[in-house]
Amino acid sequence: MQPEKLARFKTLLLAALQQHTEHVRDDQAAALELSDDGVKDTVDLSLMDVNKEMALRLGERESQMIADIDQALLRIEEGSYGKCARCGKLIDERRLEALPTARYDAACQAIIEAANGEDEHSTL
Ligand SMILES: [Zn+2]
Repeated sequence: MQPEKLARFKTLLLAALQQHTEHVRDDQAAALELSDDGVKDTVDLSLMDVNKEMALRLGERESQMIADIDQALLRIEEGSYGKCARCGKLIDERRLEALPTARYDAACQAIIEAANGEDEHSTL
């Protein structure tokens, strides 16, 4: 990939990284706040636990995204960015624009998702 394009994706990834880092901080602050406040109010306690759990779970998802971004940045450093990790073909740049952390090209992604089954998509 051309250095200018790599630099552009790097900028995109760094911006996303910052955004997600802030989300995680917010989520953790929210979770802490929930556990600090309202302890005296036993009626709302169960609801509070649910909220806290949600906040923590959101944080987990954000952490996963941060890990993905980190790996994409690492691939930029290694020079393997933009190449499919499964078949080695170049990933379509429009796909990278939409999903800068993409590790596979569209064809391989479809194969992997099919192999993983449907539970990837069905949330609760
Ligand atoms: Zn592939």
